[in-house]
Amino acid sequence: MDVSLVSRVLWQRRVLRGRERWSGAELAAHQRREEARLREFAVTRSPFYRRFHEGLEHAPLGELPVLTKATLMDNFDQISTDPALRLADLQAYLERPDAGPKFGSRYWVAATSGSSSEWTGVRAGPGHPVRMAVVSSATPWHQSARVAASVHSPFIATERLDAGWPLGEIVTRLNALRPDVVVAYASMVRTLAAEQVAGRLRISPRAVNSSSEVLTPEARMMAERAWQVPPFNVYAATETGGIAAECRYHHGMHLFEDLVIPEVADDAYRPVPAGTPGTRLLVTVLASRTIPLIRYEMTDRLVLATGPNPCMLPFRLAGAVEGRTDDALVLPAARGGSIGIHPVVFHKVLDLLDAAGWQVRQEGTLLRVLIAEPGPGFDPDATERHVRAALAEAGAFPPSVRVLAIDAIPAGAAGKRPLVVAEPKPGGLPRDAGRDPSPLTP
Ligand SMILES: [Zn+2]
Repeated sequence: MDVSLVSRVLWQRRVLRGRERWSGAELAAHQRREEARLREFAVTRSPFYRRFHEGLEHAPLGELPVLTKATLMDNFDQISTDPALRLADLQAYLERPDAGPKFGSRYWVAATSGSSSEWTGVRAGPGHPVRMAVVSSATPWHQSARVAASVHSPFIATERLDAGWPLGEIVTRLNALRPDVVVAYASMVRTLAAEQVAGRLRISPRAVNSSSEVLTPEARMMAERAWQVPPFNVYAATETGGIAAECRYHHGMHLFEDLVIPEVADDAYRPVPAGTPGTRLLVTVLASRTIPLIRYEMTDRLVLATGPNPCMLPFRLAGAVEGRTDDALVLPAARGGSIGIHPVVFHKVLDLLDAAGWQVRQEGTLLRVLIAEPGPGFDPDATERHVRAALAEAGAFPPSVRVLAIDAIPAGAAGKRPLVVAEPKPGGLPRDAGRDPSPLTP
């Protein structure tokens, strides 16, 4: 066994445990110190940040310009603080099917500081050692694939299963593995829970972690019914790593404020007070050095909890992340004009289906609903009616809906399988899209 790795993991666990007892003042002091170190490093070592933050070196974080994903990709080589790390090389590397978790032996490609599994393992997981099964995308671009590849803790034996495999094969493998911890997309958690309830899947995990997608109340209920354990919601992104996760009380997600400085903002990047949902989330990743991320924009809807935490953690609570605002569909409204339909509207109907997955595609005036591997009782006409009813309830003029059973959801750019594929919107997106995030349980 690698002794240095063991000591590093033990040390890391102690550090992270210690942070759970920080006071608000200690956390704020840590953030100030780490923010200063990150900004100093960025303007010194990154040609992009030298210009981007010019004249603002001593300005408060909230006055710095926002780094969008488009800006990041357009200026990647200038943002990089290591001349050896270039976007073209990185992309070529990620295209290789045999790509290992390391790039040029020094960089973890997608998993940055504190991957979601590691965090949950430390903060919310069961004791160790554990057997962990990660059901995720095999596409190397996708963070979950990298997360699985990067968890080499001596306490966690990780097995990665490809979410693209036929469901029967995943079930067979899981039955053989008997994992203590299962990590999967929310829709896969729901599918596996249905398999368990049907008696085909027979595992008894002590923890179920869901990531990358919205964990709806329906999916949560099914998982509890299947395994008698409430699933843990984890919020992470490829570029930033873990951002938030539920603690064992499941009263919302705690922001990893010792690793990131999150700013909940509106579309004009103005800070949004606690209790009011934001439409943008700006994330400063304190440990990011190779690609410094300072006020990096995520288009997620988050609402900060008001009042003190009901548990002892110093990290602020946020309400459920309701998917990307980018994913909202714009449809004609029943009362005229147009209306943004948040993906949660589809989750409520389609998460209840006995199927391996789903996708809603906007094609002109038609909504095509793809259902992957539906079960024997699948009724496309009923699904169509339910989708139309949900859209009407959300205020849309019910469009034509066509429901189609397919073998697998087609992968789009970078191998992602978005749940909602909207047509490009020339007029921009209405900002009243969808419902407000669910209120936090007190
Ligand atoms: Zn808590």
